[in-house]
Amino acid sequence: MTAAQCCETSDTMSNTAVVRGLVLRQAEYKESSRMLTVLTDGMGKIPVSARGAGRRGSRTAAASQLFAFSEMTLSQSRDRWYLNDANTIELFRGLTEDIAAFALGAYFLDLMDAVCQEGVDEPEILSLGLRALWLLSEGKKERALIKCSFELRLMSLLGYRPELERCAGCAAEDIDAPVLDLRGGELYCAACAEKHALSPRKLCGGSLSAMRYIVLAQDGKEFSFSLKDAPLKRLGATSEAYVREQLERSFASLAYYKGIEG
Ligand SMILES: [Zn+2]
Repeated sequence: MTAAQCCETSDTMSNTAVVRGLVLRQAEYKESSRMLTVLTDGMGKIPVSARGAGRRGSRTAAASQLFAFSEMTLSQSRDRWYLNDANTIELFRGLTEDIAAFALGAYFLDLMDAVCQEGVDEPEILSLGLRALWLLSEGKKERALIKCSFELRLMSLLGYRPELERCAGCAAEDIDAPVLDLRGGELYCAACAEKHALSPRKLCGGSLSAMRYIVLAQDGKEFSFSLKDAPLKRLGATSEAYVREQLERSFASLAYYKGIEG
């Protein structure tokens, strides 16, 4: 499956819609019903009520689970969307078999939920999220690598792409001890960082070149790099801190993931 396969058709005249969507959040309510937050391709983030989804044999049970990506048939009544039917496309089952992958996937969902406004279509964020969840679920790529790339690409899609080409102070391109200013998203050499960086974070050659690759890679290629050991740790700590600084908030799901991964 690729995210490019997402499509959407909707017919607002009759208040029904068929849309592909990823479940970002799920809460039980009443008996056997679920309230979902779904990131759709075409309608953006919407709340969806899945009545009876928790009942045995329900046709919408699988599609109303966390991480489920499905083609959903929705109907609207009094400004609320209801899930009538669904065909699951991808359930990312690998995430339920590995607690660390599940925890990191939950952080990705929380991040998407936090940055997407209700009703604003965000097809690129959805595609990025699906690619990241797919890699996580498959378990063939290092989690730390998927995490930092997802964080930096998400920030870039939101308009916070860090400027990494040259020192923002003296314009040097070849920098011995690079520093990222987490506040301004700009790169500095050590001397310029002392003067200009408000929230400095030290990088190294390896972490900087991986970061440059991530923010400039074509869609779909953002996870195709390798980095290990200290530079990967440094990059991971930096991308995480960059998200926290730019969004001005922390995530309980991230703390949970770090508790597992160490
Ligand atoms: Zn400089």
